[in-house]
Amino acid sequence: MQPTLDELFKEELQDLYDAENQILKALPKMAKAASDEDLASAFQQHLEVTKKQVKRLDKIFQQLGIKPQGKTCEAMQGLLKEGDRIIQEIEKSPVLDAALIGAAQKVEHYEISGYGTVRTLAEVLGQQDAAELLEETLDEEKETDENLTEIAENIMGGATEEDDEDEEEEELEEEEEEA
Ligand code: FE
Ligand code: FE
Ligand code: FE
Repeated sequence: MQPTLDELFKEELQDLYDAENQILKALPKMAKAASDEDLASAFQQHLEVTKKQVKRLDKIFQQLGIKPQGKTCEAMQGLLKEGDRIIQEIEKSPVLDAALIGAAQKVEHYEISGYGTVRTLAEVLGQQDAAELLEETLDEEKETDENLTEIAENIMGGATEEDDEDEEEEELEEEEEEA
């Protein structure tokens, strides 16, 4: 049967609820596999943030009067399976850290699209309270994604494109001074 927009909203929320609970189980494993201290603590911190995000969803389900369970997020199963494989196949090293960051950012990007969708659906359906709660989580996921990019840049020697350009400029200036 054709679902209504309201039913779609609820199903998307249940999908995210399942995704978040899968992430709760994966983050301690990722923290353990990380060798960079900042990365390990970023995973630990995101575990705490994720617990709050699950509570936010619980609140929304209560307001809507529906059960949180009901859907399996197969996409998150796949993303986390890739993460597991990375941990099994790569020895603890900066390379593993870089791979873990890549896997984690794929997870964050999935969440950013998921939360963007339900936030907009909540607005369209006039559920302003839910929209605000979902926006809070959306912002946290975006922040986490940016933080991971920063850690990746540090791990890989801070050699971002911008830095390279700056270095090239400095070198040119030095050459000009010498001439
Ligand atoms: Fe999350
Ligand atoms: Fe999903
Ligand atoms: Fe997240």
